[in-house]
Amino acid sequence: MSTVPDYFGSMVFDDRVMRSVLPAKVYNSMKKTIDEGASLDIGVANVVAAAMKDWAVEKGATHFTHWFQPLTGITAEKHDGFIAPSPDGGVIMEFSGKELVQGEPDASSFPSGGLRATFEARGYTAWDPTSYAFIKGKTLCIPTAFCSYGGHALDKKTPLLRSMEALNKQALRILRLFGKTEVKRVVSSVGAEQEYFLITKEMYDLRPDLKFTGRTLFGAKPPKGQEMDDHYFGAIKPKVAEFMEDLNEELWKLGIMAKTEHNEVAPAQHELAPIYTTTNVACDQNQLTMEIMQKVASRHGLVVLLHEKPFAGVNGSGKHNNWSIATNEGQNLLSPGDTPYENAQFLLFLAAVIQAVDDYQDLLRISVATAANHHQLGANEAPPAVVSMFLGDELTAVLEALETDAPYLGTEKTQLKLGVDILPKFNRDTTDRNRTSPFAFTGNKFEFRMLGSSNSIACANIMLNAAVAESLKQYADRLEGAADFENALHELIQKTIREHKRIIFNGNGYDDAWIKEATEVRGLLNYRTTADCMPHLMDEKNVRMLTGHQVFTVEEMKSRRDIMLENYCKAVTIEANTMVGMAKTGIAPAVAGFAASLAKDASVKKALDPSIACLYETGLVKRLSELSDRIAAKAEELEAEIILLGEATDVIAESVLIRDRILPKMCELRIISDEAETVTAKSAWPFPTYADILFSVR
Ligand code: ADP
Ligand code: MG
Repeated sequence: MSTVPDYFGSMVFDDRVMRSVLPAKVYNSMKKTIDEGASLDIGVANVVAAAMKDWAVEKGATHFTHWFQPLTGITAEKHDGFIAPSPDGGVIMEFSGKELVQGEPDASSFPSGGLRATFEARGYTAWDPTSYAFIKGKTLCIPTAFCSYGGHALDKKTPLLRSMEALNKQALRILRLFGKTEVKRVVSSVGAEQEYFLITKEMYDLRPDLKFTGRTLFGAKPPKGQEMDDHYFGAIKPKVAEFMEDLNEELWKLGIMAKTEHNEVAPAQHELAPIYTTTNVACDQNQLTMEIMQKVASRHGLVVLLHEKPFAGVNGSGKHNNWSIATNEGQNLLSPGDTPYENAQFLLFLAAVIQAVDDYQDLLRISVATAANHHQLGANEAPPAVVSMFLGDELTAVLEALETDAPYLGTEKTQLKLGVDILPKFNRDTTDRNRTSPFAFTGNKFEFRMLGSSNSIACANIMLNAAVAESLKQYADRLEGAADFENALHELIQKTIREHKRIIFNGNGYDDAWIKEATEVRGLLNYRTTADCMPHLMDEKNVRMLTGHQVFTVEEMKSRRDIMLENYCKAVTIEANTMVGMAKTGIAPAVAGFAASLAKDASVKKALDPSIACLYETGLVKRLSELSDRIAAKAEELEAEIILLGEATDVIAESVLIRDRILPKMCELRIISDEAETVTAKSAWPFPTYADILFSVR
């Protein structure tokens, strides 16, 4: 049997392969493109394409595809064969530099939010050489960006790459001020921890709600949920272990460093974390991970649920975006240094993040907004919809001392003057954790914890990179012209702390008292739903920042707002329709049927012996009949609300109707139906219960 190092990355056209198959000159220009963003000429692309094709064909590939991430949130691919006719009447396998660099998928059915008129339906895809090509099945997949002919981004990768570029540009300006002239590039890195549920296909197939919407729309709480805390880090069941082994192998072949796996808090819930990598690669790899999870699960008769809240009353699934920035030389810019000067640099980057999170709370919230994530945020299992950041007591104390020029009463008592006096050595211990914070400093990186498990990580990182680039730009503008750099730096950090410390909160983010303090005392934003936050994408300050750093054009922003709102409306409408269907054709008939059978039983008993009281039957028949009446009526009401959606004049108005009329009605219908479940015979209930589903995998 081969060992992991033997097959790790075997399906990836990675640096090792390139070094061995490309001529030195070609390899060097490829490397320059990957490491420094240098542009690539077609001659080089031709050689790379030929080598890539030979490598892929040897591994059994017959097709290639430009693999991209449209705004649907999943990945897209259109396969083309390598084969071309040869003069002798046979075929040859062909792949040109042009085909590698640019593709033209007929992409008219991808959402464009009005950016692409149907008469110019074809967008084009452009190779992202910084993310390695890989083989999936029999297809060579080339990671690409996807744009309209007008040059507008129609995907998630293009703005992500642009945001990385913006961050690189501004961070380099800052590093130059600290004398770091040798640094060529600054990149952001991400490690995305992925939570998911694993259930049997058998149960999944019996639940229309899971199939159509990814979550259960009905279901009474099981007698045993997560209250015993016995699942978290518990022993992994054999069937789950087999799935994980198989999954790891597939991911490793694709060069994805799946590292940790464990049970999560809820029954049937698990987590997978890879080792972090460059943000755009991490994004590609997370999309692939989600896709491969599904594929591997189906081989094991299982289904992976990536929905944020598949089961009400049971913890939902999130995704933790561990983010940091580092130089091409490997220096982590969010890592406290060993010398005062390094620490001054660290504090400036820290200040930049603090300011970014405060100034662009709304964009961070928007970046994780979906219909599904709404059920998770603020439900005492994931952070609230209010964005704040956790720094830990020690770092907070350092900042307080800096702000007021007071002596720092930490490990060493010193006056903190950057670059002049000795700064304390910060504790890098990451055990000092606050798991309730949306945005937590964990020693040398930040963990953005508001993402939903099905979210692409692209949006969160676009906003994060861009917002931090903006703080850095302001700092560079100020410091480049300063007569006395050290004093200016000191003042700048003080000013930032003073103006933005309201965003720092080290307490319990799940506490209601915090929401009150955050919104009423500190003036932080609390956008509860997608309908609340999404229109603010177009707020003047957000447009100015994002267009200023060339991350988006105004048109792209508008189109994204509309697409995200459309997705929200569509997702909830599908849920509402599914509920109506399940209630009318499944639940109401089952409840009424069970009542009728009880009534029949009672009358048979009475006929036999009129003195039998039949209290159980009589009481229950009445209650069940009442419940089935109410279920049917509520389903009708919900259906009527769905019809009224057609009258909304635009997508913003529709999203408000969804929030204010549809979602509350769905809740009402669910409450009655779940009550009915608790008093209906199990044998009469038309769907598997929570207990059936959550404990289905042995
Ligand atoms: P946990 O949050 O579960 O305690 P870790 O802190 O070890 O686990 O790491 C969680 C994730 O953070 C992993 O994917 C890891 O690779 C990633 N990570 C670690 N260091 C960095 C970094 N400098 N930048 C980005 N991600 C990182
Ligand atoms: Mg974590």
